[in-house]
Amino acid sequence: MSEPSLRVLSVVSELYPWVKTGGLADVAGALPGALAAEGVAMRTLIPGYPAMLAALPATGVAVHDFASLFGAPARLLAAEVDGLGLFVLDAPHLYARAGSPYAGPDGQDFADNAQRFAALARVGEQIGGGLVAGFVPDVVHAHDWQAGLTPAYLRLASGRRPPSVMTVHNLAFQGQFPAGLLAALGLPPESYGIEGVEYYGAIGFLKAGLRYADRITTVSPSYAAEICTPAGGMGLDGLLQARRDVLHGILNGIDEAVWNPASDPHLPEPFSATRRAGRAVCKAALQARFGLDRDPDALVFGVVSRLTWQKGMDLLLQAVPALLGQGAQLAVLGAGEPALVGGFAAAAAATPGRVGTAIGYEEAIAHLVQGGADALLVPSRFEPCGLTQLCALRYGALPVVARSGGLADTVIDANAAALAQQVATGLQFAPNSLPALEQAIGRAAGLWRQPAQWQRIQRNAMRCDVGWRGPAGAYAALYRAMAAEAG
Ligand code: ADP
Repeated sequence: MSEPSLRVLSVVSELYPWVKTGGLADVAGALPGALAAEGVAMRTLIPGYPAMLAALPATGVAVHDFASLFGAPARLLAAEVDGLGLFVLDAPHLYARAGSPYAGPDGQDFADNAQRFAALARVGEQIGGGLVAGFVPDVVHAHDWQAGLTPAYLRLASGRRPPSVMTVHNLAFQGQFPAGLLAALGLPPESYGIEGVEYYGAIGFLKAGLRYADRITTVSPSYAAEICTPAGGMGLDGLLQARRDVLHGILNGIDEAVWNPASDPHLPEPFSATRRAGRAVCKAALQARFGLDRDPDALVFGVVSRLTWQKGMDLLLQAVPALLGQGAQLAVLGAGEPALVGGFAAAAAATPGRVGTAIGYEEAIAHLVQGGADALLVPSRFEPCGLTQLCALRYGALPVVARSGGLADTVIDANAAALAQQVATGLQFAPNSLPALEQAIGRAAGLWRQPAQWQRIQRNAMRCDVGWRGPAGAYAALYRAMAAEAG
């Protein structure tokens, strides 16, 4: 007998495929579909950015009118789009802007981000309190600092409210705002303190979520452990350590329909774990796209990443000479810090045919890199879960990863024991230093010179379960436990 359906409200600031700056959007977009199979009905509350409103069908209906929400009228729209149940907060004074969800075209964060995301959280709390009669959630699930006030509002509200879970996708982004905004954000004076929303003299949105949520999750078991330490806790390790008993690490999956090499419209030729011949065609297309020499025998390393310090891209740039010394090629897709963008562009200019770049955010090219590169480099200094190495596993681009967070949890290093057991799926290196990265590149090149070994690892990689079934089961179990406790 299937379990009774549970209603969960997801509160989030990005949603694939409409609004995405990183992995958060992928998770928010894929989780509801996977949860449906677990008997969980998830609806997603998202700000009404222009791209979100444009995605709504004419059948979207207003389910609530706010006379005033942080300074002006607003509406809550409900719609079903591509199988996702959505609540879209149509508040033009907060969200009708050009730029990313968080910053204008000039790259500057919007000055009223506190109000913009407090509004999202406030409406999440109200839906939790029964604002929409047709969907009264049993659990509210808040993602990252943008939704961090949701658990606070729920806990501080009068009347019955559902329990909440706060998920940390990246502890580096915490949402700190001036303490003087306390009243404007509708937070009571007594909530301002170390046992409340205060974070070193400011209001911390993520801190608030971590403090008030009934449960905390993060996106891998290793990252759950790392964020409880001074080295990985980014100032929140004390709170996280104190709440260790309600902190869970649940790995992300990838959307296996979007990331399926057998039916990927961005690949010139399909392939699969059992029929891998099409990979050679994809590799040739990748080499052509990145201006690399058309050499089927050259080991091609790919990168699909934000070009940032967190992602270890400065280390990789320094490792380019060693990589070239191994006779390998490098294809870098990314956008980010100007110095790194310039650095990779300079490397490509200096070594034409050996290093190629595609600067920008290009979904189609991301698929081509995964399908055409022989190995994917992920030298992150910290990585909560990481999605690109999961895509790489599925597409048979052997992940070469720093032993950190979710990277450590998802790639099995090709050491002697793993090779003997035939369970290796990629390479790990530690510590995250230039010599260790160079050594890992050298190890990859050594394996490349043993084609039978390489193909065995590739086959193992492509057989890994990187989908959402397992993670969705873990979230469903967590929600049910929370709902049962709440009675
Ligand atoms: P993060 O969210 O920290 O940036 P993740 O590995 O969790 O890193 O998720 C990154 C997601 O963004 C993946 O889906 C990846 O394919 C995608 N991505 C990153 N950079 C680019 C880019 N330049 N172009 C296209 N997709 C990208």
